[in-house]
Amino acid sequence: MREHFASIISSIGEDLNRPGLLDTPDRAAKAFQFLTRGYNQTLDEIVNGALFPSDSEEMIMVKDIELYSLCEHHLLPFIGKAHVAYIPTGKVLGLSKIARIVDMFARRLQIQEQLTVQIAESVQEITGASGVGVIIEAKHMCMMMRGVEKQNSSMKTSAMLGSFRTNQATRNEFLSLLRS
Ligand SMILES: [Zn+2]
Repeated sequence: MREHFASIISSIGEDLNRPGLLDTPDRAAKAFQFLTRGYNQTLDEIVNGALFPSDSEEMIMVKDIELYSLCEHHLLPFIGKAHVAYIPTGKVLGLSKIARIVDMFARRLQIQEQLTVQIAESVQEITGASGVGVIIEAKHMCMMMRGVEKQNSSMKTSAMLGSFRTNQATRNEFLSLLRS
């Protein structure tokens, strides 16, 4: 990967031997590896048994999970927040695990729509929840720095599974928790 970054840098006409760029291919390769480390993680590893019995059937929500991802079309960052909620049926997930699931999928080449669905389906799969809702709002550098150069647009996507899809009251509760 270091070699590839070196050829990208020289192909834009830069001098790889100037002091500021000497170690850049190496640093860029390390950074890129970090930004895509989600490929080396699995759900089982991440959850690592942090599932706990619970009698509650009330909605659990984790709001404002910071999210940093790379768009698969331009390899440019998109940055935003994820909100995840579910209704347990006997098992709840350690709170930090939700953030780690978001991170695992975000640290791959992504489109926001797909990321949203992957998070929802994973929470559903692990907890057996009767419903899951995920909303992501993010700003895309490929829109802000290039192309249409729209600085303030953000994109919102949602994935609603189970009762979040079929039950209006559940969906409303989710949306009102989000606003509060
Ligand atoms: Zn893009």
